[in-house]
Amino acid sequence: MAETPAENADCLFCRIVAGEIPADVVLRSERVLAFRDIDPKAPTHVLVVPLEHHSDVGALAAADPAALAELVEVGRRIAADEGHDHFRLVFNTGAEAGQSVFHVHGHVLAGRPMTWPPG
Ligand code: 5GP
Ligand code: ZN
Repeated sequence: MAETPAENADCLFCRIVAGEIPADVVLRSERVLAFRDIDPKAPTHVLVVPLEHHSDVGALAAADPAALAELVEVGRRIAADEGHDHFRLVFNTGAEAGQSVFHVHGHVLAGRPMTWPPG
C-alpha cells in the first residue's frame, strides 16, 4: 500500500496537524507545522512536521522533497527568530535511533551548548 496518505487517523502528529490534539504552535506554512515539544530538551525545542503523513525523513525526501526543504528552512528560521544562529536539527529515524512517533519530525534544539556524540 502507498505509504503517504494525507492523514493517518491513528497518528499523533496527524491529529495535532488537524487540530484534534492541542499543541503550542510556533508557525504554520504551506507544507509544514512547527510546535513546541511537550518534553523540551533545550531552551528551544520545536518539532517541525509536514502537514501530510510520511513515516520518516527518507520517505519524505523520496515523496515530497519540497516539503523537506521547507521543513529545514522553517527550522532554521525558528532558531533564528528565537535568537539562535547555532542549532541542532535532528531526525531520529527508526526505533533503535530513538524515533517514537512515526510521522517524520525535525527536532530543532538550541539555546544551550551541545555535546557530541549524542547518546
Ligand atoms: P522522537 O522520539 O520520535 O524522535 O520524538 C518524538 C517527540 O515528540 C518527543 O521529543 C516527545 O517529547 C514529543 N511528543 C510526544 N507526544 C507529544 C505531544 O502530545 N505533544 C507534543 N507537543 N510533543 C509530543
Ligand atoms: Zn501522521
